[in-house]
Amino acid sequence: MLSTTLVHRCPHCQGERLYKNGHTVRGAQRAKCKDCQRTFTLAPKGPRHSPALKKQVLSAYQDRMSIRGIHRTFGVCYQTVMKWLGEKSRATPGIQRHALAQPARRRA
Ligand SMILES: [Zn+2]
Repeated sequence: MLSTTLVHRCPHCQGERLYKNGHTVRGAQRAKCKDCQRTFTLAPKGPRHSPALKKQVLSAYQDRMSIRGIHRTFGVCYQTVMKWLGEKSRATPGIQRHALAQPARRRA
């Protein structure tokens, strides 16, 4: 029989005094450090959406598809699309998120 032992450490303070602290929405084990009181995921899973899907979504957004429409078509939630748009706008400073601005109110 082959067995391995994995010692988890706090990613913030490298402390070993940890205890289980529930699960993430996706089912991964959460832990809390007794030394610094911070919480974290023990074995975080990789990104949920593939880079190819991300590229498709950003392209659809550039083609003026609404975020709601992106959610319906690709199954990517609003917050994720907003996060990706933020990452893209930070990566390319010339691009602004015009479509995110609220429409101007009409004067009475
Ligand atoms: Zn800690």
